[in-house]
Amino acid sequence: MQIKEVDAKAIKDSRGEKTIQVSIKTTVGKFSASAPTGKSTGKFEAKTYKKSLEDDIKAVKDFKDYFTEEYLEKFDDLRRIEDIIEKHVGANTVIALEFAALKAIAKEQKKEVWQIINPEAKKFPRLVGNSVGGGKHSSGIDGKKPDFQEFLLIPNKKTVKENFELNKKIRLEIADKIREKEKKFDKKVSDEKGWLTALNEKEILDILRTFDIDLGVDIAASSFYKRKKYKYENPKLDRISEEQIGYLSNLIKNYNLFYIEDPFGEEEFEDFSKLLTKFPNSLIVGDDLTVTNLKRLEKAIEMNSINAIIIKPNQNGSLIKVKEVVELAKKNDIKTVFSHRSGETEEDILADLAFGFEADFLKCGITGKEREAKIKRLIEIEKKLKK
Ligand code: PEP
Ligand code: MG
Repeated sequence: MQIKEVDAKAIKDSRGEKTIQVSIKTTVGKFSASAPTGKSTGKFEAKTYKKSLEDDIKAVKDFKDYFTEEYLEKFDDLRRIEDIIEKHVGANTVIALEFAALKAIAKEQKKEVWQIINPEAKKFPRLVGNSVGGGKHSSGIDGKKPDFQEFLLIPNKKTVKENFELNKKIRLEIADKIREKEKKFDKKVSDEKGWLTALNEKEILDILRTFDIDLGVDIAASSFYKRKKYKYENPKLDRISEEQIGYLSNLIKNYNLFYIEDPFGEEEFEDFSKLLTKFPNSLIVGDDLTVTNLKRLEKAIEMNSINAIIIKPNQNGSLIKVKEVVELAKKNDIKTVFSHRSGETEEDILADLAFGFEADFLKCGITGKEREAKIKRLIEIEKKLKK
C-alpha cells in the first residue's frame, strides 16, 4: 500500500472541543482516523500538537505528498511514517495518521486491523467501565464532587457482550442508589459519562460494594497533589504521603478494591512501590506515572512501583514505541490496560489495538456513542471469531 496524499482537519470531540482527524488517499482507497484528547494529562506525556492543532494541520498539508515513495505492508513499516513526520507535528497527529495507515494496510491484505498487529491474537481484554465521575472530569453539584476521578466496574463474565450488558445494568442501578442518598442528583454525567454526584469516595464505594462485581478507582492523584500534600476537598483535608498510603490501604481492605490507578503523584515511584508491596494481589496501575513511555516504565519496573500500566497511544505519539512499551510490560508480567481519553471521538481502532496486542483490560466509558463505538467493535471482533 502506498499513501498518495494526506490531509487533516479539526473535528469536535465528546467534550465539544477540537481534535485532529487525518485522512489519507492510498492505492487501496481513502481512510481516515482521529485521535482523542485528555484533560487530566500527565506532566510527562508527549505534546499533543507541536505548537497548536492549527499548525499541525498546516504541517500535514505541507507534507501531503511526502509519503508516496513508501510501501507500507506491515505494522513495523509505520516507522517510515514516523521518520518523515514526527519532528514536524505532535503526538495526536502522528497517531491519527498511523491509525489511518493501519486501516489501509488491513484493507489491502483483506484483513482486520488487529490481524496486522498479531494474526494469532485470541485473548479478549476485560472491560473496565467508568460508572461515576469526579476530579477533573466532573463539574460537580453545587461545587461539590468526589476527589477521585473515576469509579470503575470490572466485570468478569465469559464474553465481552455479557460484560458490557452487566456494566450498563449496574451503572443504571447505581443511579437509583445515588438518588436515595442525594436529593439533588439528576442523572447528569461527567466527561466520560460517569454519574455526576456530590457524594465523596467512601459514600460512592459504599454503594458500589453492594454489587457483585470487581471494583476499581482512578484516583488521578497528581491532579490534587500540591506541595507534597494530597489536598482533598470532599471533605476538606490534607494528607501527606504516609497518610495517603494509610487511607488508601484502608479503602483497599474495606472495599476489597481490585484496581487502583494513580494512587500517588506522578513522580512518587517509591510510594507506588510501598502500596504494591502491601497489596500484591490488587492491581496498582500507572497512568500519569508512566505515560506509555518506555523509560518511565523501565523505572517503574526497577522500583517495583506497578503491576499494571495504562496504554494510551497519544500519550506517547508513536505506535512503534507503544509496541515496545507493551512488549516490555508483558515481559515483566505487568498487566496492560488499553485506555480511552476523557475527550473521545467515534474512532474505534482502540478495540483492534487492545485485541491485537492481547491487552488484559480495555478501559472505556460505559455509555455515549464515542465510548460504545469501541466496545461494540470489540464485540464485533468476538462475533466474527466465533463464526
Ligand atoms: C485517565 O486519567 O485515565 C483519563 C482517561 O483521563 P484523561 O484522558 O483526561 O487523561
Ligand atoms: Mg488515569
